[in-house]
Order: sequence, then structure tokens, then C-alpha cells
Amino acid sequence: MEPAGAPPQGCAPAREAEEPPGSPALPAEEPQGGQPAGLPPGEAALPAVAGRERGRRGAVPQGPGGRAARGRGRRAPGRRGGEEGGRAGRRPRVTVDSSKAKTSLEALKISLRQLRWREFPFGRRLPCDIYWHGVSFHDNDIFSGQVNKFPGMTEMVRKITLSRAVRTMQDLFPLEYNFYPRSWILPEEFPLFVDEVRMMKDSDPSWKPTFIVKPDGGCQGDGIYLIKDPSDIRLTGSIQSRPAVVQEYICKPLLVDKLKFDIRLYVLLKSLEPLEIYIAKDGLSRFCTEPYQEPTLKNLHQVFMHLTNYSLNIHSGNFIHSDNVNTGSKRTFSSILCRLSSRGADVKKLWSDIISLVIKTIIALTPELKVYYQSDIPAGKPGPTCFQILGFDILLMKNLKPMLLEVNANPSMRIEHEQELSPGVFENVPSPVDEEVKVAVIRDTLRLVDPQKKKRKDVQCQTLEEASEAKEEAREAGAGDGGERGGSRSPEAGLPSLCLKQVFPKYARQFSYLRLVDRVAALFIRFLGVKGTTKLGPTGFRTFIRNCKLSNSNFSMASVDILYIDITRRWNSMGIDHKESGMGLQAFVEAFFCLAQKKYKSLPLHKQVASLIDFCEYHLAALDEKRLVCGRGIVERRSAVVPSQTDGLHLTPAAHTPLLNRTAAASKFADYRNHRY
Ligand code: ADP
Repeated sequence: MEPAGAPPQGCAPAREAEEPPGSPALPAEEPQGGQPAGLPPGEAALPAVAGRERGRRGAVPQGPGGRAARGRGRRAPGRRGGEEGGRAGRRPRVTVDSSKAKTSLEALKISLRQLRWREFPFGRRLPCDIYWHGVSFHDNDIFSGQVNKFPGMTEMVRKITLSRAVRTMQDLFPLEYNFYPRSWILPEEFPLFVDEVRMMKDSDPSWKPTFIVKPDGGCQGDGIYLIKDPSDIRLTGSIQSRPAVVQEYICKPLLVDKLKFDIRLYVLLKSLEPLEIYIAKDGLSRFCTEPYQEPTLKNLHQVFMHLTNYSLNIHSGNFIHSDNVNTGSKRTFSSILCRLSSRGADVKKLWSDIISLVIKTIIALTPELKVYYQSDIPAGKPGPTCFQILGFDILLMKNLKPMLLEVNANPSMRIEHEQELSPGVFENVPSPVDEEVKVAVIRDTLRLVDPQKKKRKDVQCQTLEEASEAKEEAREAGAGDGGERGGSRSPEAGLPSLCLKQVFPKYARQFSYLRLVDRVAALFIRFLGVKGTTKLGPTGFRTFIRNCKLSNSNFSMASVDILYIDITRRWNSMGIDHKESGMGLQAFVEAFFCLAQKKYKSLPLHKQVASLIDFCEYHLAALDEKRLVCGRGIVERRSAVVPSQTDGLHLTPAAHTPLLNRTAAASKFADYRNHRY
């Protein structure tokens, strides 16, 4: 077994120390010279942490739901050891409902055994602490605990929705979001696609692009094809009925062993509000199975050369299953980094860029996720909290720049693969590479969301006292079994260090300026009105305009209605969401940008938008304050008449918090005014 933190075989550990402030590894475009994105100090670079788990797997007592492990820790009643076991037993084990885990079940089971948590494979009548869903949030009605999916995530990471969300950010911050290939949404942007490509070709005749067409909602390479010219798009039938994203194809990927590969990185979105993001130190690299050549009309159709999907390449005769993380068609990302590092590549900078890409992508997704969240789990109603493991697919360009391909809401957590034993005879066999990476990600996600962690912290002082008491008792009784007592054993004892590293809020200072659409979404949510909805009606939109004091002689309420109708009709005609009528967040964002451009003509877009947000927040804070004062007046008047009824007065949560907001909003607004004039 390798020592903890040892690099993969035959590879010198790449440095992964925290970078000093102002380090050159910082993303160049960051406006502040704040803390750089790197991984924590003292950590060996990208060690195959989970690799040690396989060895350990046998050591962890196994049994259904970890019961054997628990039983073994018990002593005969009446014996001192039994009391100690009881002391440990008093700590309730975390309960996990795995009945809907689907293909992640095997990896989840191993993780739960390692943690000695209690699994309920068939569900439980009583609530569980954690519900592990294989597909989406909506598998069940759950009113407490935690679910490993966010409502709306699956919709958010569909190819078209992700492209739109990233594009909104590209409009605001083009340089910061240049890690996503230029994309167009079909069919509605087909004319735009044709025009833009023609213009770019005219301005640079040497540009010989290739494009990749990906059906929306497709996965595993399904329906994907490459084209050299917009006229090659298959416009017959299917494109109309099946929307797609067409994207600039990255022609010069980094090759290893002459093969194209991509990276699957696991990212934990631990919380939406406040935003908490973790990245797994290791991921998987999935290889093509034909040597790569830049796309030509001749090789465009060779999927084993251009598409890295495991599900496609496994059918190639060249696919190599390997138990070694450094070889084969699926390897650990750390093994690739070791190779790169040995060739002198700046692996630290690469990590920094990847962290930056992940944070920025999640910042693009959070506004709409918050709309879904408040709709499914309205504030003040009982409901679970959510967390989610996301699979980021990243392609490295030849110059080591990471490019985002897509985000998966349900990354495969299978730890076995199908192998053809003899022609036509298939069997599922364990895949050590998958197990090494995925079990660690699931186990450490659970450790991070452990509901008892906080409780344990609270009782830590108490436990210390108990431990010294127990020692004293053991000495008095001369018992020889002290070392085995479960009661003093930390639940984390024996587990490797976490493979997930926090990147947000750790690097919040560098990225917070990008969270403008989040603030627009907060305004949108405020005016949604009816709980449970995701669309803004015309009245809500008018109230927004009125409360934020956005209408005036140049912008009448009639113009407001026209703006609402125009934008809403266009978005709804794109067929994004027919379930509800009204204005969705993306349409609202468009309307907001439009208002911002109108009001602050001379500024760049992100400044126009930031100024309008400040303006709106300022007026809303003032309104809240006014309402609070009125509310207080009512309370005082009522209490003067019927003192005992004051408890019944309902003040909205917003009405409780405005003073602070107002001060902040007012000073921001003042800052803005000073800055502008
Ligand atoms: P799917 O969800 O069907 O897997 P992806 O967006 O991941 O769709 O694309 C499938 C594969 O196509 C990727 O794994 C990658 O190898 C290749 N690919 C996708 N987009 C690009 C691109 N813009 N440039 C180069 N290769 C790409």
C-alpha cells in the first residue's frame, strides 16, 4: 500500500502548494491582486488519495448497512468495554436512504461502510439524514435532511441552457469567460451563425474552422457530428424538432500518446446560499482510441479520433482496459499531470485555471438555480437542504488552456465496466481506476455534509472531559482493553485526508465581482410574488419597475408593458419552457440589460448593469425601511390598543432586514455616483 499522499507510481509529486499572493499563476484577468487560486499548503500534488481506499476496503468491517462493523465494537453488557462501546453507540449514526441511488449505489455502499454510516437500501419510514438520488431532486417528497441533488440542476446544465447562461456572462465579462467555445443555439440562431461565420471568414481568410453540432439534452456523444461549414448542418426535420448547440470545434487539443483526451473533474456544490464549492483533487481522463489528426473533410466522421466519450470508445477495438491508473483508455487525471509536470509544464498554473473555470461556470449557473430552489423549497417551509456532485468535462488545448465542454448533473458514478469475455458474452467487471476516484469523491462529499459534524464540534469540549474521565476509570480498574474503546475514537480516524478542496468562498474575493446576475436574480425572485412559481407576470414586472423607480417621462408604464410583452413573447416562442406562462429569469435578465443600457448609455455593459442593480437595491432598501417604519407604527398603535396581539403581526423577512441593506446599498449608490460624476 502506498503511503498517504504518495504520488502515483514512478512519478515525482508535482507541487501543489498554496501560491503566494500575486503569484503569476493567478488568472491574468482577475482585477484584484487577491489570493490566488491554488490548492492548500502542504498537500502533495494530486495524490491518488482514493487509491489507498481499495487496500483499506477489506479492512473496514463490512455488512449490510455497516451493521457488522457496529456489532463488533460492542462489548458484553456490564463490562467496562461494553460501557465504552455504549458511549460510542450513543452517538447516533448518520442515516442514508440509498433506495434511489441507481448506478451510484456500489460506490455509495463502499463509502458508507468506510464511514460506518447506516444505509437504508429500501428507504425508511422515519426521515433519514441524507437521501442519495441517482437522477434528480424530484424523486421523492422529502421534508427534512439533505438531498444530493438541487432542483433544476438537470435543466440548468442541458447544452442549450448552459450555453445561454455562459453567454450571458460572456456578454458581461468576455475575457473572463473565454474558456467556453463560441456557440450558437439552433434552430433560432442559425441565421446568426451563418452571418457571423461569414463575417469572420471575410475578416480572416486563413481561418478554416470546424464546428461541432450537439443535440440539446443528448449525452454520451449521441447525435454529435462535425461540420466544416454552416451549410453542412442537417437542417432536415430533426434540427427543427430537436434543438442543438453548434460550437466552434477546438482543433488543437493537447495530446498524450498522440491521442485526444478530456478530463472529467468532480465538483461539489455544497451550498447555494452561501455559495460553497469544492473540487476533487483527482479526476478521470478519457481517451480517444484513434490517433488524433486535425479535422479534415476526410476524417470528420471518425468518432474514435474526435470524440472522447467513454461510451463510444469502449466499442473500439483499440480500447485498453487497464488496472493501472497511468495507462489505458481511462486514467486518473493526476497521472496526466505527472506526465505534464515531468515534461516541464506549469501544472500549478493549470490547476489555477481549472479552479477559475469551475468557479466562473458555477457563478453562471447559480442565478437560475436560485429561482428553481425558491420554487421547490420556498423559504420558511419545511424542506431538505441540497448539495450536488457535478461532473465537469474539460478539454485541454495544446497551450494547456482548459476549455469547458459541458457540465453533467448526474456524472456516472459506476465503478465497474462491461467487458466482452468471449464474442457476445459480456460481464461487469470492477474498474479500479473508477473506484479509486469515485469512491473518494462520494465518501468525502458525505464527510463534508455530515450532519453530525457540527454537533460533534459543539460537544468536543465535553468529549475531551469524558475521555479523561474514562482513562481515569480504566486505570482504577486496571483494565487491559483500553486501546480498543470505540468511544474515544474519532469518526474521521483512519480515513484519508479529504480529496475535495474548498475553492469558494476561499477565493471569493477574486470572483465576487462576477456575481452580477445573482443580484439581478434576487430582484427577480423578490417580485415573483406567488411562492412556487418561476415566471414573473406582467403585474410583477410593473411592480418591479415602480418600486425601483425606473419609469419616468421618457419611459412610461405603457413602454414597460411593451418591453415585457416583446421579450416574454420572444423567449416563450423559443420553446424553452411551456409549463408556466410569464417572464422567466433569462428573459428578465435581457429586459434588465435593456433598461441598464437605456439608463447608463456611455458605460460598458457590466458597469451599466452594476449601476442599475445598485440603483434598484437602493430604492428597494428605502422602500423596505419605509415599510418597517410603517409596520412599527402599526405595531405601536395596535399594542397601545391590544397589547397582547402584537405577536400576530406579520412582517415579511425583507421587512426585518432592510436597515443594514439600506446602509450598504446607499453607500454603494453613493460610491457609484461619486465614481460616475
Ligand atoms: P455529450 O454530452 O454527448 O458527451 P459533449 O459536449 O461532452 O457531449 O461532447 C462529446 C465529446 O465531443 C467531448 O467529450 C469531446 O471529446 C468532444 N467535443 C465536444 N465539444 C467539443 C469542442 N468544442 N471542441 C472539440 N471537441 C469537442
